[in-house]
Amino acid sequence: MARMTCKCGEVLSNTLAPNDIQLRVFTDKEWDDIINIGQIDTLDLPDPKVDVWRCPKCKRMYFFEDGNDKAALIYRLEE
Ligand SMILES: [Zn+2]
Repeated sequence: MARMTCKCGEVLSNTLAPNDIQLRVFTDKEWDDIINIGQIDTLDLPDPKVDVWRCPKCKRMYFFEDGNDKAALIYRLEE
């Protein structure tokens, strides 16, 4: 996943590092497992299981799972 067009028309890309599109999201349990492995080295942090992208324009959020290019879930801002 490197580039896609949001349903609102905004082009989203994670090619810039860092960027404001891709979110690093862990569940509390996943995070607990990570920090309990031992000493934390930020370079050794695993990638999140779910890849989450947020559109800066309409705030839609896209959840990609298992390396799929097609979003498994799409959330649109309600309020
Ligand atoms: Zn959008």
